[in-house]
Amino acid sequence: MFKIYEVKAKSVFHKTKIPDADWGVNYYRGCTHNCIYCYLKFLCRWRKQKEKWGEFVDVKINAPELVAKESKNKKGVAILCTGGDAYQPIEKKYQLTRKVLQNLNTNLRLLVLTKSNLIVRDVDLFRRFKRCELGLTITALNESVKKVFEPLSPSSHARLDALKKIKG
Ligand code: SF4
Repeated sequence: MFKIYEVKAKSVFHKTKIPDADWGVNYYRGCTHNCIYCYLKFLCRWRKQKEKWGEFVDVKINAPELVAKESKNKKGVAILCTGGDAYQPIEKKYQLTRKVLQNLNTNLRLLVLTKSNLIVRDVDLFRRFKRCELGLTITALNESVKKVFEPLSPSSHARLDALKKIKG
């Protein structure tokens, strides 16, 4: 079980040190894919609540409005989503990634890296960007091995199918 917190953010567009990116867009904090090696677990330190990584998601519900304003005059490379997977399961309900893409400045070069085949849903929006790079992580083709490292993310085969669809 995990908890969802709807919050209002002051800002979602920020400078990032992630290689090859200039800007990060941060609208989900937390990720229920709960990979054992997740590099974002340190984000728990800045929360009042005590849930562990994988047990919560803070949903910045005003992100679409903020990203429209904050990305308007920006140049360079923007990466989604720097606080959790942009296509983790709650994206089906909130569609925050989709709304952020609708409002993001399309002159930016877009980077998205996910572990979910849900990314296929937004192909129509990726086409609006002048430059766009999409990636799906495949850690292990053996599903039993995959489940050890990434227990709650979609299967590797679903991701491979998604790659084929995006490419086609
Ligand atoms: S999908 Fe990415 S953000 Fe989510 S738990 Fe796994 S490594 Fe962390």
